Amino acid sequence: MREAVYRCSECGRNYPLAPELTVCAECQRQQEANQPLRGVLEVAMAEAPANPADILAWLPVESEYFPPVPVGGTPLWQPANLRRRFGCNRLYIKDDGANPTASFKDRASWLVSAFARKHGINDIALASTGNAGSSMAGIGAAAGQRVTLFLPKSAPDAKLVQALQYGATVHRVDGSYDLAYDLSLEFTRRRGGMNRNTAYNPLTIEGKKTVSLELFQQLGQAPDVLFVPVGDGCILAGVYKGFRDLHQFGLIEKIPTVIGVQAAGSAALWQAMQSGRFTAIPTATLADSICVDVPRNGLHALNQLRNHGGRLITVSDRQILAAQAELAATTGLFTEPAGAAAYAGFVQCADELDPAALVVILATGNGLKDIATARKGVTVPEQTITSVEEIL
Ligand SMILES: *Cc1c(COP(=O)(O)O)cnc(C)c1O
Repeated sequence: MREAVYRCSECGRNYPLAPELTVCAECQRQQEANQPLRGVLEVAMAEAPANPADILAWLPVESEYFPPVPVGGTPLWQPANLRRRFGCNRLYIKDDGANPTASFKDRASWLVSAFARKHGINDIALASTGNAGSSMAGIGAAAGQRVTLFLPKSAPDAKLVQALQYGATVHRVDGSYDLAYDLSLEFTRRRGGMNRNTAYNPLTIEGKKTVSLELFQQLGQAPDVLFVPVGDGCILAGVYKGFRDLHQFGLIEKIPTVIGVQAAGSAALWQAMQSGRFTAIPTATLADSICVDVPRNGLHALNQLRNHGGRLITVSDRQILAAQAELAATTGLFTEPAGAAAYAGFVQCADELDPAALVVILATGNGLKDIATARKGVTVPEQTITSVEEIL
């Protein structure tokens, strides 16, 4: 048995690592409607893993419970054309679209699935803008678990079809992700099983930390600067958790500078960083994976940014579309709009970066996940041909 507890990210109370626990009961009393979750729990490990090179050894579930699907170990690209263009010779792109279901979310689903299995739980429900749902559906399929997904009807077709292909039960929600979130919680309360909602299930953030552990392994050091797309703020928090674990056990000396990138049309976290409070206003962006009115992990994410000198910036949908096509055409990496937002953030800040800095852009999902939006960034030829004569 691995020594680990849940620790409240707000008040520091410890709880046992039990599957029925979600958020800190004490801090949850201060929960207000349409506000980020209170009392988000983190996993705290008692001691360094015996073999730090084994990423599974950093996780609070034993390896035999993980489903047989190759999550993580995603490629780190060295984009020569971009390095030249921006004079940033140590620029890398972490391609998390290369995960089994083509998004970063597999890192969280994988750990949640293992934790459920360890505790004999076979039903997992969740709400998702699309990727978390198709991810949990795919990982759940490999594990033989039943997955029930609450998906806003606006979710890109590929993500819906993907979840159905994996055999999940999909309830299409006539409303936003925020409504889907509430419905899925009510469903779990009434039906039992595990809920994988982001931040609400502490293992989502814990699973996402593996990207930082992997970067440390692949680079032989932590990056200096990391660009991360931000919606609910769980990837951001997971990224920090990984670096904090490495720091806690003496493997790195300082926490990298994390630059969170939000879509200007859905920038609740950015607004809260300016104003000090969260206001739930309906938001919209083409980058569906980061379209969030109430960032569920908002408080925790803001604290991380403040404690570790991180920054938040915003990019417009126009910048995101341009960045998506530019990244694809310059590097051969086709990422979905949310991933392109991280690249757009890099483009926006490139002048300010130290040319010697080791910079990583986190490309969180495959471009094929949302073709309808990607289509807006290119010109599809109207004319069809039947002979080469017509184009010579
Ligand atoms: C979920 C997701 C994000 C944002 O992660 P948050 O934890 O909601 O901030 C970014 N990119 C992709 C592709 C995603 O699926």
